[in-house]
Order: sequence, then structure tokens, then C-alpha cells
Amino acid sequence: MVKATAATPAAASPARTGLDPLDLYGVRAQLNDEERLVQDSVARLVDQEILPIIQSCFEEHRFPKELIPQLASLGLLGSSIRGYDCAGLNAVCYGLICQELERGDSGIRSFVSVQSSLCMYPIFAFGSEEQKRRYLPRMARGELIGCFGLTEPQGGSDPANMKTHASKRGGDWVLNGSKMWITNGAIADLAVVWAQTPEGIRGFLIERGASGFSAPEIQHKFSLRASVTAALFFDNVVVPESQVLPGVTGLRGPLSCLTQARYGISWGVIGAAQACLRQLLDYTATRTLFGRPLAANQTIQVRLAEMARRITAAQLLALQLARLKDAGAMQPAHVSLAKWNNCRMALDIARDCRDMLGGAGISAEYAPIRHMLNLESVITYEGTESIHQLSIGRELTGINAF
Ligand SMILES: Cc1cc2nc3c(=O)[nH]c(=O)nc-3n(C[C@H](O)[C@H](O)[C@H](O)COP(=O)(O)OP(=O)(O)OC[C@H]3O[C@@H](n4cnc5c(N)ncnc54)[C@H](O)[C@@H]3O)c2cc1C
Repeated sequence: MVKATAATPAAASPARTGLDPLDLYGVRAQLNDEERLVQDSVARLVDQEILPIIQSCFEEHRFPKELIPQLASLGLLGSSIRGYDCAGLNAVCYGLICQELERGDSGIRSFVSVQSSLCMYPIFAFGSEEQKRRYLPRMARGELIGCFGLTEPQGGSDPANMKTHASKRGGDWVLNGSKMWITNGAIADLAVVWAQTPEGIRGFLIERGASGFSAPEIQHKFSLRASVTAALFFDNVVVPESQVLPGVTGLRGPLSCLTQARYGISWGVIGAAQACLRQLLDYTATRTLFGRPLAANQTIQVRLAEMARRITAAQLLALQLARLKDAGAMQPAHVSLAKWNNCRMALDIARDCRDMLGGAGISAEYAPIRHMLNLESVITYEGTESIHQLSIGRELTGINAF
């Protein structure tokens, strides 16, 4: 007969089973060789080149432009585009690129997202053959930096209320108006700018130096400090017809770009959350309070377990989203759900990690506060949480409640 025994003391209980705390369900085992290779190459870049400098970049409010050639040489710019000297990788690879980069910093991932999904993608999807040949290979090599101008000062959530407009003068267009909160704006060689025309919203390719075009950097940000954000001003900027994207008219143009970029964000923020959890696992194992490691407290373990649960759910959501994207079945509502869920997950985790670090949590020497501040932008841009919730509400009910 088996005798009842006292509960095994915590110290003698079986330790870990070897599961990766940042990948409890083994998403990595689901990847093919190419996907793993891409993840490993970007992870190396992040560990060797980004993490050593990112704290000071954040403190100095400086985007590390010197990284652009390395990002380009790994094929990370326009990585999903086929042809035009781009890598032609699948959706999972693009997701993993975003995830690893954002493990470093949301600002670096934002740079790559904007270049790839918001600038190269519309040229690839809606541009003329001449525009594609002129811009895409140089953008893939990082020789030409792009930005995407959709948001305006009067309200980014309602892009249909666009005031920037273009009218025909002879064979040219004349553009007037302004854009706000534009990532890469002040360093961009090329701006993809969306403007109202008598035919509907159209996309204009405006090169740096065009007369009447200026892009002053926005200062005093407490978030995405390792990223450049600018306003764009257009004062009678003359744009030849050859610089208009011929393949799209209407909001479908900018919204389809946002769908691509939001997809990348859904993956990217997982990296930020993983970086926070990794640091907290180390910290709580070594921080001794009340005579025992912080990690030995039940409430601390519950909080860590909660983080692992939410990261795991986000990973599986992102992986399925990638499968849908690669199968051509991804709908905007899928992306809205993932962007909302995963940004909320990462922001909550970063805030909780900051708290568990105590006073040290307010120091930039620990990653969570930097990720937390960055994620305040990431949860806002490309559609705020409310906007994505309303998109899903519309999908469920058929009623537009915006
Ligand atoms: C760092 C950073 C980088 C960015 N980069 C770019 C870029 O590269 N290109 C670009 O075009 N834009 C960019 N943006 C802009 C971003 O997309 C917008 O900030 C965002 O869409 C929100 O627009 P808004 O700031 O005008 O807020 P608003 O639209 O004024 O919204 C204010 C609040 O109202 C809520 N709200 C709005 N409508 C409703 C409604 N119907 N019901 C309930 N609540 C509602 C919103 O959720 C939000 O909380 C960037 C923003 C930031 C902060």
C-alpha cells in the first residue's frame, strides 16, 4: 500500500523540464530551416550590434543610422518583396525579423517596418514598372530611406477626413497640406504621401529637396527615442504625373499598406515582451528579499507565469496569422485582432516587469522601462487599440460604430 507522504519541499521539487521559458509551446520547432536561419541571423545582429548601443541611443534621442547597411546586407529591407534585389522571404520570416529586431528596440523595428511595409510595399503593389526599378533596389540596399505620410494633425484615426490635397496644373500635380508623426520623416530621401485629389485619395512619391517640402523632426518624445519622427509640410509642391502611384485610388491604398505593417507589429511586440520577461527571470532569481530569491514568492511566480501565458498565446496567434498571410487568406480583422492582443500583451508585460524591478525599474539600465515607453507608441500607431476593437466589432456585428 502506498503511504501518504508529506508534500515535497519546494527546494527539493523537480526543477525545470528544459522548456524554453520564452517559447513554451516550441514555436521555433514549427519553423523550417530557412525561417530558423533568418531568425538566428537577425538575433545575432541584435545581440552584437543593437543591444550594446541601444540604451545610449534611447537616452540621446538618436536613431542609429549606422546600422542601416547591416540591416540591408541581411536582406531585412523589403524582405517580403520578390524581385528588385529584395529577399523574397515568406510571411513567417518577416514576422521573425520584426520579433528579433523589437527584442532589441521598437525604434529599430519601426525603421524596418516603415521602409519595408509602408514605403517599398506600396511602390511594389501600386507603382509603375519604372517606379519599381527606380526605387526598390536602392531601398533594399539601404541607400534610399523612405517614409509614409498618412496621419494628419487633425486626427490619425479618421484618415478619410484627409485635408492634404493635390490638384492638377498642366501635366503636373500641386500638393498642399501637412502630415504628423511620420517615422523616418526627417531622414527620408523619399516620402510616400497620401493626398485627396478630385479622383479620390492617391499616393505621391516626393523626393527630399522638392521645392516647398520640409520635414522637421519632432523633439521631446518620451517614446521611440531611438527612432526619427517628423512632421511633413507641403507648400505648393509640384509633383510630376510620373511620381504618382498609378495602381490605386482611394483609402484602400494606404489601408493595405497598414495591413502589412500591422502584421509585422503583431510579431515585433512579442520580441519586446520576451526581452522584458528574460530580464525579469534573471533578476528575480538573484534578487534576495526576506531571505529568499524574489522568484521563490508565489505572487512573483504567478506574475511570471501570467507573462509566459500571454507571450505563448501571442506567439501562436502570430504564427497562425503568418500561415493565413502566406495562404493569401489574411483579412484586416485578423490583423486587427493580433495587433490589439499582442500590443496590449507586450505593454502590460513591460509595465509589470518595470514594477517587479522596484526602483531599478525606472533606470534605462534595465530594458523594461525603455520597452514600456516604446510600446506606448506601438499600441497607438497603425491604429489605436480602440480602432482595432471597433474593426473587430464591425466584423462581428456588421455595424460600423466608428
Ligand atoms: C511615434 C509615432 C510614429 C508614427 N509614425 C507614423 C508614420 O510613419 N506614418 C503615419 O502616417 N502615421 C504615423 N503615426 C501616427 C499614428 O498612426 C497616429 O498617432 C494614430 O493613428 C492615432 O492618431 P492620432 O494621434 O491623431 O489620435 P486620434 O485619432 O486623435 O485619437 C485620439 C484618441 O481617440 C480615440 N478614438 C478615435 N476615434 C475613436 C472612436 N470612433 N471611438 C472611440 N475612440 C476613438 C483613439 O483611440 C485615441 O485614443 C505615428 C505615431 C507615433 C506616436
